[in-house]
Amino acid sequence: MILVINSGSSSIKYKLFMKSNLKEIYSGIKEEITSHDEAIYYILKKLKSNNIIKSKEDIDIVGHRVVHGGDYFKEAVKIDNIVMDKISELSSLAPLHNPANLSGIKAVYEVFGDDIKQVAVFDTAFHQTIPSYASIYPLPYEYYEKYGVKKYGFHGTSHHYVAKQAAKQLGKKLEDTNLITMHLGNGASVCAIKNGKSIDTSMGFTPLEGLMMGTRCGNIDSSLVVYLEEKLNCTNDEMTTILNKQSGFKGLCGSSDLREVISLAKKDDKKAKLAIDIFIYRIKEYIGSYLMILEDIDAIVFTGGIGENSSLVRDEICNTTDKFNLKHFVIHTDEELAIAELSKEFI
Ligand code: ADP
Repeated sequence: MILVINSGSSSIKYKLFMKSNLKEIYSGIKEEITSHDEAIYYILKKLKSNNIIKSKEDIDIVGHRVVHGGDYFKEAVKIDNIVMDKISELSSLAPLHNPANLSGIKAVYEVFGDDIKQVAVFDTAFHQTIPSYASIYPLPYEYYEKYGVKKYGFHGTSHHYVAKQAAKQLGKKLEDTNLITMHLGNGASVCAIKNGKSIDTSMGFTPLEGLMMGTRCGNIDSSLVVYLEEKLNCTNDEMTTILNKQSGFKGLCGSSDLREVISLAKKDDKKAKLAIDIFIYRIKEYIGSYLMILEDIDAIVFTGGIGENSSLVRDEICNTTDKFNLKHFVIHTDEELAIAELSKEFI
């Protein structure tokens, strides 16, 4: 069996899959964790007491979601000490995520023993094929060399997964397929895929860049950060919170949840209507620019909570893309299944 772990700082999500056919057999979340070791012990106990597994030996491999793989990890890797050191080193680029991901990996060794096989699947890896003219910011070049300042992109596992599914539905090989994939959830990003490879994506050095999101502003004039820090007399940390947690749908109309925003808009709430218009406008901007760089595409793909469920958002976008005769797919993303699939190759 394949155990997939998404280890955060305060919770661990987990799913168990059959090795043979990747059928999902169990999923759960352990919240308010006090330590990662304790949480993994709890998960193992839970799987045993529910008769899902007889012993820990039933687990063939553990696949972990790791947020940041920097420029070092271009694909999923089997975990060893060197990999763990690198994940730790990359914590400066993802201080909220990589340390928690690493604690999850260490906890699995602690509970399952040193012989357990583990795999790291990185959110950034799929975007490692983005050429430097699309990933390097036009800032002094030494910031890239000294501090690793460049576009890394995120949601890579999801973009890759839905691209594979779309290619299947088109009856084509992934390496012959050009797509624009849109992962629209609380976080949202667009990816330009040429011959099965990511050549650009809307998130950047952090997940803040690009589309407007549930609570993130996406692209804004960078001078506004300094201007507003002065006006609001706030610290860098406070500004980071404003941009990441108090902006987007939430900042514009008070709710970060599109379902609530839509019901406000139906009651003629002007800010809610404006928020939906801005969200859709910015998605169209990306589709337009990615069409230009891809030159020809097989389809656009919607995924994520909004992409999969909101016909309002899809219809608004497709009203425009239909004019360009673009085919579209709605594909359910399953990042854990994608991690299980990639992990299976290491058994
Ligand atoms: P996360 O990025 O946290 O995984 P999801 O992919 O679950 O988020 O997406 C959450 C978003 O999807 C929320 O804004 C929610 O309102 C929206 N959503 C879910 N179902 C619907 C629906 N039926 N209609 C419109 N929006 C929906």
